[in-house]
Amino acid sequence: MPERPNRGIVVSLKAIPHAPGRSRPIHRETSNFGMTKKRGKHQRGQAAGKVDTKSAATASQAAHEPPSAARWARAAAEIADAVPHDVQAPPARQAAEGIVTIQPGQVCDLSAIDPNADGGLDKEASRQALATERARIQTLQERLYAEHRRSLLVVFQAIDTGGKDGTIRAVLEGVNPQGCRVWSFKVPSAEEADHDVLWRYHARTPGRGMIGVFNRSHYEDVLVVRVKGLVPEETWRERYGLINDFERMLTLSGTTVLKFFLHISKDEQKERLEARIADPEKHWKFDPADLIERKSWDAYQAAFADALTHCSTPQAPWHVVPANRKWFRNLVIARTIADTLEAMDPQFPEAAEGISGMTVPD
Ligand code: ADP
Repeated sequence: MPERPNRGIVVSLKAIPHAPGRSRPIHRETSNFGMTKKRGKHQRGQAAGKVDTKSAATASQAAHEPPSAARWARAAAEIADAVPHDVQAPPARQAAEGIVTIQPGQVCDLSAIDPNADGGLDKEASRQALATERARIQTLQERLYAEHRRSLLVVFQAIDTGGKDGTIRAVLEGVNPQGCRVWSFKVPSAEEADHDVLWRYHARTPGRGMIGVFNRSHYEDVLVVRVKGLVPEETWRERYGLINDFERMLTLSGTTVLKFFLHISKDEQKERLEARIADPEKHWKFDPADLIERKSWDAYQAAFADALTHCSTPQAPWHVVPANRKWFRNLVIARTIADTLEAMDPQFPEAAEGISGMTVPD
């Protein structure tokens, strides 16, 4: 189905005063893409704690103004003060051994990367090592959540049966569900198709303190859309730049973007499809359309390689994971996520003064 042109007009609200029925104003900030994010309590506290002559002047001025105007002025000042220019994601870390990271400017040649690679690791030992990496992720995720300043977006792309679901299950097991959200992107709904190409993805990027997982992602719009010819070439080509800008904007806003391409062989896909056909309990996973898609294997490989070439940037390079061996795939991805969180070095927020000396009344 060809995409419908987006002819909407965006009006950007800079400040939102008290919503009726709320006890405090909603603090929002605008981003490059005109979207908004809700502020957390720690950021409100930090912003309020600073000596800000602009806010003080606005507040005293506001005292002489009608209540609604004062509220608007105060909200505007607080928002200007709260935009987290200091909160940038750390530069991308090197991935765990065994993963091939596409360097910015490097041409990605998937045929040169062995999907069977296992780094010479032992299967059983790797399963145990996975438990260690999961524990690291869980500990660091708690800190990220408590810190409430930055976030992590983990993007998974793969051909059908590539193992996105299994990876997410294996790697994020035990993570506090309150601090993690997984989004699966399907064929766009009518509402999604009525908006710009990044709209549905941007709306689901992780808020402060959160780990967000994209099971398929904004890359579908240069992958399936290209292979099926849903838009002209000039349109999907233009999207590489849009995607790079989008990810850069996220990084500058405190979101570290980690992208994994699960690389399986055509033979492995055949085996996985056959396994789904053979096992009645896996029939729900089998879509006869996958057999038609399989005919476009080469076109998909070319589309993946181009996307990985054009969208590997210093802040968000692509990581190609040899993914025929699930136990190896799970371990190196979990390790890379743990290493990335460790590099972000999230800190528990400073406690209010005097807490350690407090006593709880009977
Ligand atoms: P999955 O294969 O991820 O487990 P599904 O079997 O429901 O989930 O497949 C989702 C389908 O949605 C895929 O065929 C994918 O190509 C398609 N899809 C995702 N994003 C888009 C998009 N932007 N445009 C067209 N099709 C899309």
